[in-house]
Amino acid sequence: MIPLVDLKSQYASLKGEIDGAIADVVQSCHFILGPQVEAFEAEFADYCQTRFACAVNSGTSALHLALLAAGVGPGDEVITVSYTFVATAAAIRYTGAQPVFVDIDPRTCNIDPSQIESAITSRTKVIMPVHLHGSCADMDRIMEVARRHNLIVIEDAAQAHGAKYRGRRAGSMGHLACFSFYPGKNLGAYGEAGAVVTSDERHATLIRQLRDHGQNEKYHHERLGYNYRMEAIQGAVLKVKLKYLDDWNDARRRHAETYRHELRNADVRLLEETEGSNSVHHIFPVFTQERDDLQRHLQAAGIGTGIHYPIPVHLQSGYRELGYSAGDFPHTERAADETLSLPMYPELTPGAVVQVADSVRQFRRKSVAVHP
Ligand SMILES: *Cc1c(COP(=O)(O)O)cnc(C)c1O
Repeated sequence: MIPLVDLKSQYASLKGEIDGAIADVVQSCHFILGPQVEAFEAEFADYCQTRFACAVNSGTSALHLALLAAGVGPGDEVITVSYTFVATAAAIRYTGAQPVFVDIDPRTCNIDPSQIESAITSRTKVIMPVHLHGSCADMDRIMEVARRHNLIVIEDAAQAHGAKYRGRRAGSMGHLACFSFYPGKNLGAYGEAGAVVTSDERHATLIRQLRDHGQNEKYHHERLGYNYRMEAIQGAVLKVKLKYLDDWNDARRRHAETYRHELRNADVRLLEETEGSNSVHHIFPVFTQERDDLQRHLQAAGIGTGIHYPIPVHLQSGYRELGYSAGDFPHTERAADETLSLPMYPELTPGAVVQVADSVRQFRRKSVAVHP
């Protein structure tokens, strides 16, 4: 059995260090924010090439607070993609603002920068590109449009810890950027966690207030805030794991290379990387019109797969009020219908990657034989 992801083998490889870090938190009885979280914040900001990291309790909270720090509220519009995890759009709705979707570039599955300008109105405040599957959106073009229209850019970097674009880290290019440390992400906590990174001190100060009930000192609440604080156990685990992130991302890149090589003549479409981008392959998708059959074929061969994501946000019933309908974003809808995520995690063996690729190729031969 080759699973889609495997968190247990990573824990096994770090057990001593992780157990020690958790025990230290329990011993200290400093369970929320505190020195462990501050130490992680400093290291993560450094890693992301930003001045500040503000630790929060999920990627969704990070997005919500980044939008609030950018001044987004009711009546405003935020330009983003429908081809993303739903949290991107949910966070925009929490502020009372309207998500305005644009289609993806089908080659990268990231926001198509050439479609952003025509979506801008007098109410647009923010552009929120998503670095989907670990590959950066075309940030130079996005920042250029934002500059011309005086808009704030918030990167949804929840899948892109350590990714690079023209030498810069994901998270360092927009005015603010949001990370999720959901356990299955490239840098995953042992529970819920997230962070906002920025180099703007005013944004960082405001986000630290907002995550802690709007207080600037204990029991002095300057504004309406939230309980979005990171737990110390998560900070301690993340600080241990951050040291290994580059090695893990390198392993993912090697697996992606092997997949690309082994699938070069297979009858499935692969993603192209945005020019100048260096993906960290959070997800490795293939695309085929026979997606559901391929998934069953791999399942029968003992290979776990996933679909990221089967229904674009604009077609979710909970988002009907946005007024979109089927056909509005053809590339997004086609990708959702055809995508299938192959096993991808650092601890995969090269042999397992080849085995998965072989199985994908066998499916194509079989289906070609049946329907010539
Ligand atoms: C995981 C994810 C989020 C949300 O993060 P949580 O920590 O689960 O709240 C937001 N955006 C994208 C693109 C994600 O993949």
